[in-house]
Amino acid sequence: MVEDRDEPTIIEPTDAVIRLTATCICGSDLWPYRGAYDVDRQVMGHEYVGVVEAIGSEVATVKVGDFVVGSFFASDNTCEICRAGYQSHCVHRVLMGLIGTQSDRARIPLADGTLVATPAQPDADLIPSLLAASDVLGTGWFAAVAAEAGPGKTVAVVGDGAVGLLAVLAAKQLGAQRIIAFSRHADRQKLAREFGATDIIEERGDDGVAKLKDLTNGLGAHSVVEAVGTQEAMMQAIRATRPGGHVGFVGVSHDVSIPGDLLFGSGVHLHGGPAPVRRFLPELIELIWDRTIEPGKVFDLTLPIERAAEGYRAMDERRAIKVLLTPTDNND
Ligand SMILES: [Zn+2]
Repeated sequence: MVEDRDEPTIIEPTDAVIRLTATCICGSDLWPYRGAYDVDRQVMGHEYVGVVEAIGSEVATVKVGDFVVGSFFASDNTCEICRAGYQSHCVHRVLMGLIGTQSDRARIPLADGTLVATPAQPDADLIPSLLAASDVLGTGWFAAVAAEAGPGKTVAVVGDGAVGLLAVLAAKQLGAQRIIAFSRHADRQKLAREFGATDIIEERGDDGVAKLKDLTNGLGAHSVVEAVGTQEAMMQAIRATRPGGHVGFVGVSHDVSIPGDLLFGSGVHLHGGPAPVRRFLPELIELIWDRTIEPGKVFDLTLPIERAAEGYRAMDERRAIKVLLTPTDNND
């Protein structure tokens, strides 16, 4: 449901207000949509790019007119946790989903720490990729980093949604030698290969793990990304990882419980959680600006924001990988 709400304004001197150029629907938005939580008229959306319209008196690093990218947690980028690269756990963090960026305008708290300006106004064809940097690319990238993807490594990715596909892209950029994507959908397999996957495994669960072991001399992958958040996917990720290897998990966990004996016996590293997208934004914006990467390819449906409900349906029914929404002002 789309409704008119009060226009956002500057509340704190560290706020900015942006006019959204594009926003989108996240896989995690589907959990409340499907009824996993009790929601009633909850504002939605936490991915955004746009133009700064107003800034508070203490904002110094972005100015009115700048085109900016931010992530799903606002962060000060100055506290000890932020400086260690974990801005999604900032001591002052604000969850952008509570503000709701599936809208025409949005208030961005902690603007200096949260927003990164692009070098200039972007060409229209760059906007989907910059929007992807706001969450799905940043999250896939963190997952690949958490899994220690790099030169000489075999990386496996569990999950063929936008985040999993972009973890493939990240693994490729980080220099992985071999990238194995688990996917049973032809369109997603094709995109995974475009992003750098060298092998595709269609089986999942035990069969998927067995197939992966076949491809890795019985050892398992060095690095495994878990980008689903279910029990089956997490177990598959841990069991697909060789002893001493790393699992990067970014699928929002839903009733996942890891048996202690399995974890003890596995000898793997586990690292993940809500991705500190802000850590990677400057680098990701540069790679997009230089047209080295095109993560915006994950958007396979674009709708005006008034038709957001159709977008939720399309993603829920897996007819779309990811839906881009264009705010009202851009449809005049
Ligand atoms: Zn912080």
